[in-house]
Amino acid sequence: MGKILDGKAVANLLAQNLKEKVKKLKSEGIVPHFCVINIGDDPASKIYVRMKKRRAEKIGIVQDVYQLSADTSQEEALKLIDKLNSDPKINGVMVQLPAPDQIDADELLARINPDKDVDGLTPANTGRLWMDNHFVEPATAEGIIELLKHYHISLAGKNVVIIGRSNIVGKPLAALMLEQDATVTIAHSKTQNLEDLTKHADIVVSATGQAFLVTADMIKDGAIVVDVGINHVNGKLVGDVDFENVKEKASYITPVPGGVGPLTVQFLMEAVVKLTRRQNDRR
Ligand code: NAD
Repeated sequence: MGKILDGKAVANLLAQNLKEKVKKLKSEGIVPHFCVINIGDDPASKIYVRMKKRRAEKIGIVQDVYQLSADTSQEEALKLIDKLNSDPKINGVMVQLPAPDQIDADELLARINPDKDVDGLTPANTGRLWMDNHFVEPATAEGIIELLKHYHISLAGKNVVIIGRSNIVGKPLAALMLEQDATVTIAHSKTQNLEDLTKHADIVVSATGQAFLVTADMIKDGAIVVDVGINHVNGKLVGDVDFENVKEKASYITPVPGGVGPLTVQFLMEAVVKLTRRQNDRR
């Protein structure tokens, strides 16, 4: 049976270290402070915003939430981002996605000052990620890299299949894994014969939002399986992976919940602290 990659435990361990970094900043008169802009009433978004707030408070970071109504215009949202960009007390800005239909989320992301881009999703920081000169990384991708590192799982020379090509998870994770000398394949909804790819993979990462997509017959013995998916099936939270069966074949596997999720929130906080330090060192 595979060993559990305990994201929750790793995130809590890292939170202790981050607290110390925040203490040091505070001793210099600096309090990390970031803003989450949430537009509309998506129920999952509200839960995520609350989870962030809880972890921010635990670590000593100030998180402001700008809850905007579902009929907010693009102009109003852009104006708020401009205001936060130019406020020297604010170290980080992020837009909680998804946004309502009238909002062009890409334009909002592009408006965030890259120096305050805690999600690492501005075009400038996405470019830096692929050019190996980044100073902030999308939290889920960075969280997965650090989780593997914590368990001494090296990426060099490994065959990795990432299922899902989103800007938020699949693509940035591919960039970070390439940087660590993995051979990376990105699969997606139009990929044919997915199992032909996954069967040869040393590491399979699934980030699709399709429950039970990854089954035991799709992975090789001893593979490492990272499940990013968040799905609700019959009132239960599950990932993309058929956990009960895949865990028998995998050497390591992340559970859902308690795997990648807590690391995402932790690495958002790491990004806030990193950007705060960077801004103050440059002053
Ligand atoms: P997305 O909808 O932007 O992208 C999904 C990707 O999966 C697409 O690239 C699509 O081509 C691919 N896909 C869909 N069905 C597929 C199939 N049958 N076979 C192969 N590929 C398929 O989603 P996202 O924002 O990247 O999120 C993906 C999942 O991860 C969601 O469940 C989301 O809730 C979850 N998520 C979790 C965390 C976390 O911290 N645990 C963070 C971000 C996203």
